[in-house]
Amino acid sequence: AQIEQADFVKSSTTTEQCPSDGLPEFAFVGRSNVGKSSLVNSIVRRKKLALTSKKPGKTQCINHFRINDSWYLVDLPGYGYAAAPKEVRTDWSKFTKDYFLNRSTLVSVFLLVDASIPAKKIDLEYASWLGQNQIPMTLVFTKCDKRKRKKNGVKRAEENVEDFQGLIREFFDATPPWIMTSSVTNQGRDEILLHMAQLRNY
Ligand code: GDP
Repeated sequence: AQIEQADFVKSSTTTEQCPSDGLPEFAFVGRSNVGKSSLVNSIVRRKKLALTSKKPGKTQCINHFRINDSWYLVDLPGYGYAAAPKEVRTDWSKFTKDYFLNRSTLVSVFLLVDASIPAKKIDLEYASWLGQNQIPMTLVFTKCDKRKRKKNGVKRAEENVEDFQGLIREFFDATPPWIMTSSVTNQGRDEILLHMAQLRNY
């Protein structure tokens, strides 16, 4: 299930503008700095698949990358960037919500959560919104190479992961699938691709 080809297709600001060829897609989303660009580049095995620019304000698009001519990897704007102007922030959430609710070819949202820190309110809110709206979600924990050991009372990555899952459980009928990853060690890379292949063939 390796990635042979990855082509940028287009940036859209509304769901209607998104590609209409009906290929299945997976949307990557997470807090700014969660490690989304690093992870996507690790998955496609490229140093720089030109993801959304890192500058807040330039990242307000739904970006479609066609993979192996058979599915889309969709890069959504990072959320929770405090320095972005308020109007821009509400705009992002408006169009990403519309995308989640109306994009019929969306197979699963890959919600990225930093496993090296305790659960953040904004991530819990995001996950619970997806659950309450019955949007299929896969939890992708990032930076699992950090916090391998318990030190000075700081929790290990596994403990943060368990805490997060426990906190969102009430919003889902079934516990969402989850994958632990690191773009430093490439942990989880094959698992993500395998999981996507399984979801596509389902
Ligand atoms: P984005 O804003 O979500 O695209 O995040 P980036 O991919 O730019 O990563 C944000 C920061 O986290 C950078 O300093 C990365 O080097 C670091 N980072 C990203 N992924 C990992 C990881 O798996 N392990 C570690 N230790 N650091 C990471």
